Amino acid sequence: MNTTEPTPLARALAARISRDGPISVRAYMDACLNDPEHGYYRTRRAIGAKEDFVTAPEISQVFGELIGLWAAVVWQQMGSPARVRLVELGPGRGTLMADALRAAQKVPAFLAAAEIVLVEPNAELEAVQRKTLAEQSVPVRWVGELAALEAVPGGATIVIANEVLDVLPITQLQRTESGWVERGVGVNDAGRLVFGVAAHGIAAPSDAGSARLGDIVERRSTAEIAGKLAQLAAAGPLAALFIDYGYEGPAVGDTLQAVRAQHYEDPLASPGVADLTAHVDFTAFAADARAQGLAVDGPVPQATFLGSLGIVERTSRLMAANPTNAAGLEAATARLTAPTGMGTLFKAIGVRSEGVPRLPGL
Ligand code: SAH
Repeated sequence: MNTTEPTPLARALAARISRDGPISVRAYMDACLNDPEHGYYRTRRAIGAKEDFVTAPEISQVFGELIGLWAAVVWQQMGSPARVRLVELGPGRGTLMADALRAAQKVPAFLAAAEIVLVEPNAELEAVQRKTLAEQSVPVRWVGELAALEAVPGGATIVIANEVLDVLPITQLQRTESGWVERGVGVNDAGRLVFGVAAHGIAAPSDAGSARLGDIVERRSTAEIAGKLAQLAAAGPLAALFIDYGYEGPAVGDTLQAVRAQHYEDPLASPGVADLTAHVDFTAFAADARAQGLAVDGPVPQATFLGSLGIVERTSRLMAANPTNAAGLEAATARLTAPTGMGTLFKAIGVRSEGVPRLPGL
């Protein structure tokens, strides 16, 4: 598609803004990702070598395998309960779960106890996941949103989520000469979307003392996820693993980013057609979880997490077993653990109920 041609969602948003005034960055991001008709995560396949972006499970089978073994160990740490729900948020193509279940065959009692629940709002991706997981012997079911996952009295739950927190909409606050404002999206004289101000007179953020004129700070509400985790933890043992790219705040900076066909583009260029995400503030997420009475382990760099789960040993074994693939396996592990790339930009954080021991690798 020609990027100079507004997308259908750009037209709809421009009409709405012309009528009602600027919308917040948060409302813009929410519309781009979740608009029922045009939202990116309602309609697109998104992930894969031929799609918009590639994720860790698509880079290497070892990623999902290690997480499968991690889940089996966590289940043992919970006292090997007779039933456990293994929940994945935003499972993408289903690759991580397929690799995880294959590796977990080493712990048959875990698989015998497990029920898989996939939380996926995107019907296109759910169809891909159904295909990927068609041959599984473990029961798998789908729910469209986390809120629909019921807490089962006495039920043990393990949650995994790779690159999901980054798609939750953010609010951007900006320090200007007239004080703090909420950043928004308006339209210019040509009818094109432009960044502007959604609301004036915002209270100065308590942690933004060092912010200079023009600086932006970001806020993301993860309270809803934390609340759901607390509800699950009140019913039975809970352990959750979130892996994403991000930082340990507080920090200033605009991290809103759009990616299409494996290239970055202006976040306003093609709403609904590009993936739109922002870095995760792990400190803020941890605070939301602790506020709910949950324990938090980490964050640690992805390289540290995968290293302590044995990524090097696992890769060497696979390389020995598949000499023709050895170079590819080695390169994939190097990419996931690169000290100046995914290995440190990505981080793993664990959230658990107080009664569950510290989670492996964190
Ligand atoms: N975990 C996968 C996919 C990451 S992309 C991987 O690593 O490859 C983000 C995923 O989150 C997609 O499956 C997307 O449809 C899903 N998603 C988007 N919004 C979501 C929400 N609010 N709750 C749960 N999943 C969501």
